[in-house]
Amino acid sequence: MNIDWRRNNNLTNFFYSCLPCELESHVEIENFLEKKLQKVLGIKSEKLEESIKKGNTKFYFSMGVPTLLFKKETGKLESGTVVYLSDEIEVIRGFPKIKRTLLLFPAIINYFKDSVAVEEKMNGYNVRIASINTSEIFSKGSDADYGSSHENFEIKNNSRKIVALTRGGYVCPFTTKKAQELLNLDEFFLDHPDMVICGEMVGTHNPYVSQYYPEIGKLGFRVFDIRHKISNQPLSIENKRNILKKYNLPPVRLFGVFKVKEAADQIMRIIKEIGSDEREGLVMKHPSMTISPLKYTSSQAHDREIKYAFNFPFDFGRAFFFSRVIREGFQAYEMDESPEELESRSKRLGESIILPMLEIIKHIKEGEPAVEDSIIEVDTLEEAEEFVRHLHNLGVSTMLLKYEDGNAVIRRIHNATTDKINNYIKGGLY
Ligand code: ATP
Ligand code: MG
Repeated sequence: MNIDWRRNNNLTNFFYSCLPCELESHVEIENFLEKKLQKVLGIKSEKLEESIKKGNTKFYFSMGVPTLLFKKETGKLESGTVVYLSDEIEVIRGFPKIKRTLLLFPAIINYFKDSVAVEEKMNGYNVRIASINTSEIFSKGSDADYGSSHENFEIKNNSRKIVALTRGGYVCPFTTKKAQELLNLDEFFLDHPDMVICGEMVGTHNPYVSQYYPEIGKLGFRVFDIRHKISNQPLSIENKRNILKKYNLPPVRLFGVFKVKEAADQIMRIIKEIGSDEREGLVMKHPSMTISPLKYTSSQAHDREIKYAFNFPFDFGRAFFFSRVIREGFQAYEMDESPEELESRSKRLGESIILPMLEIIKHIKEGEPAVEDSIIEVDTLEEAEEFVRHLHNLGVSTMLLKYEDGNAVIRRIHNATTDKINNYIKGGLY
């Protein structure tokens, strides 16, 4: 089936031609939603329509392909689920939320029952890489995502394209390019077009979450899940690691598979160790992946995030701060620390709150805005500009500050922090 772009295709009407049988036809979306999508997605058409009406599900053209994006959880579909309506319907499910445990004992025993695999939780940003059928409708206009009108595109022949989606479900041009430079994906997707590679993009030179890892440096990718497209069913730990090895794709670190009875002690030991290396934490998974995973993070990671957020205190919700302090309280309880250890934990936490705030107040007093700069490596100025456009379209307040020798400095502006602190400095009341 080829969609006929010269006709009035919209949310209710699709005109298409079937090349092998030379038929031209037209479907109405009511019928389409009713039958096909309902069947594929396992979600009632009324629910889908309601979600579209409320603006929780967006219909747009991504790379020329009609696309549905679930911005909010809808039925069993996670937020960030994307449905490509090209020759075939392809569903890339959103990455599921991972629940957190505040205490290891007895949660791990109760939750996992027999054994648990302990993986490193890398601190970067969530990426889903998939191969999708785009019917090659690019060319005339830009290659950009969201909202592009179909008039900018022309149909070439059927083809598959590897794309990288960030958590919300948008194709990120920076990540799509880098993923293909960093990883050898072709062979994997040739053999497994129905699979999605889920992983973390990490390192200092990325525009979303910058953290230094000695083994990664500027930019790297670590795979933590391989999932089936429509069902979102993940492969077992063993299966995943074997496949990654076969295709030479880099997995996250596996610390071991433990019997639940010994797991809490082991996890406590590992978390202290990786915490002292300024690493983020752990994700505990049942080896079969039939139980959803749990996360647990280091004290150093809590402090680092609190410190970061108090640089821009009014741009983060209160829940952000509260939840990290709660994690510290429960960890201090479970680790049964000495008075000295407790004192050092409390001091670190206090400093992570007060010091960055003091800095930013002074900074704004001097007439400077609250900004955050990140460096990315790109091949051309146009690439940098395209990426900033992508961020604008997502509603992120950013600008391209500088481009020189393949390095682009992206500046993010934290408006709420700038405006509020300015107001208080001038005598505004809280
Ligand atoms: P949530 O999962 O609740 O949406 P969040 O978006 O705030 O939380 P995090 O607190 O960072 O994210 O924890 C979950 C994320 O951790 C995953 O979405 C994934 O991107 C990342 N992650 C890093 N390492 C792993 C791993 N080994 N297994 C699973 N996820 C991992
Ligand atoms: Mg994270």
